[in-house]
Amino acid sequence: MILTIRKFGDPVLKEKCNRINNLDCNFAGLVKNLADTMYNAPGIGLAASQVGILERLFICDLGDGLQVYVNAKIVATEGEDMNEEGCLSIPNIRVPVKRAKKVKITALNANGKKVTFVAEDLLAHVIQHEVDHLNGVLVLDKTDTENRRRALEELREHVQID
Ligand code: ZN
Repeated sequence: MILTIRKFGDPVLKEKCNRINNLDCNFAGLVKNLADTMYNAPGIGLAASQVGILERLFICDLGDGLQVYVNAKIVATEGEDMNEEGCLSIPNIRVPVKRAKKVKITALNANGKKVTFVAEDLLAHVIQHEVDHLNGVLVLDKTDTENRRRALEELREHVQID
């Protein structure tokens, strides 16, 4: 089922998400709906809060299969990278965002199993972007003043907030 992606201006995107304490019987269905929504958009990452569900869950697919992250936490970072990022909640806008080049992450996977690993480059950026969503932070909060101003101007002109 394709869910409605909340757009910039929706207060739910500024909320902090709650830890998930158990993967109940609705969990697999929720992941499937998130995946349907992300692939339909199309996008490479989607956080539950972007469809109005305030739980620490996000998914991504960089072309090599669906990855599911529950209660993801960045426990270490290394290096620095600047890259242009878009967001399904802020359509047609791309802004430069400073990210760590590498992140060490702990999370539960789709089966509730704890995983710890190091991600680099694009995957590291996507994980940082999605973890930001779990904390109510958007790319517009992370870019510089000038790019934020320009993006907001463009949003006012072209995007209908529904
Ligand atoms: Zn986003």
